Amino acid sequence: TEPHRVRTRFAPSPTGFIHLGNIRSALYPWAFARHHGGDFILRIEDTDTERSSEEAVQVILQAMDWLGLDYDEGPFYQMQRMPRYREVLDQLRAAGWVYPCYMSTAELDALRERQTAAKQKPRYDGTWRPEPGKVLPPIPKGVQPVWRFKTPTTGVVGWHDFVKGRVDIRNEELDDLVVARPDGTPTYNFCVVVDDMDMRITDVIRGDDHVNNTPRQLHIFHALGAQPPRYAHLPTVLNEQGEKLSKRNGAKSVLQYRDEGYLPDAVVNYLARLGWSHGDAEIFSRAQFLEWFDLDHLGSSPAQFDEAKLRWVNAHY
Ligand code: GLU
Repeated sequence: TEPHRVRTRFAPSPTGFIHLGNIRSALYPWAFARHHGGDFILRIEDTDTERSSEEAVQVILQAMDWLGLDYDEGPFYQMQRMPRYREVLDQLRAAGWVYPCYMSTAELDALRERQTAAKQKPRYDGTWRPEPGKVLPPIPKGVQPVWRFKTPTTGVVGWHDFVKGRVDIRNEELDDLVVARPDGTPTYNFCVVVDDMDMRITDVIRGDDHVNNTPRQLHIFHALGAQPPRYAHLPTVLNEQGEKLSKRNGAKSVLQYRDEGYLPDAVVNYLARLGWSHGDAEIFSRAQFLEWFDLDHLGSSPAQFDEAKLRWVNAHY
């Protein structure tokens, strides 16, 4: 691959349901890759084994297939990449970026209670963080540690977000992230970085519920000596009552629109306009959308889903 080839991804968690707001997070990175003649990669984030299922993966694949969101690589499954995560973890360990923490859940709870009572923000206090000249507590017997990432304690971490503009977070706001559990399984933020690095993702376009993860992920990229991607964090899609679109408050599955006979191109057209605009254009073809799509005209406030509008687009398509 040439160095500047655009590579984007959709990284859903297959937990059973995919609504139009979710699939918009596939549409935009897909359109961005297609616009630039780049690659679009599908990654299934199935590490939450209790909530993930193969049926849910099939629902995602069918929804993408129906809407014509084709991918160039994948689907990659995080559960199949465990050896790779362990390898990268060893690399961080060898370089001194992570350290074992033996604080028990009960101790963490007690710490959190003390901090809350003192009106402080609950955070890990660095008890087990090695520092030059610091004496660590005796290691308790028979306890498997979690592994924490040594987050810098001073300075800021930031990025230029296509949607949010400049975002800078003070490192003192972040605590030492757990990157591996006592049984050695890696945690979410760590897997995402290894994947985005290995898959050479140039642009991460995802929901803004991940904004708080980004500074943590940037630190891990830095520790691995890898160039982080650029980021676009998409504002939430709200329902007609102004609540975040979700199954719980009645959002329909993407496949339900398929089954009701909606035209896939009309749904793509509607979703394209839900948070992005191109002048006054209301009805446009897929080819026009791919020609016009960019990240500079993404809306920065939440988009409101409107079923009547979707029906209107479908009727005029
Ligand atoms: N699996 C995450 C989700 O479904 C997405 C993670 C990401 O895009 O970085 O919310």
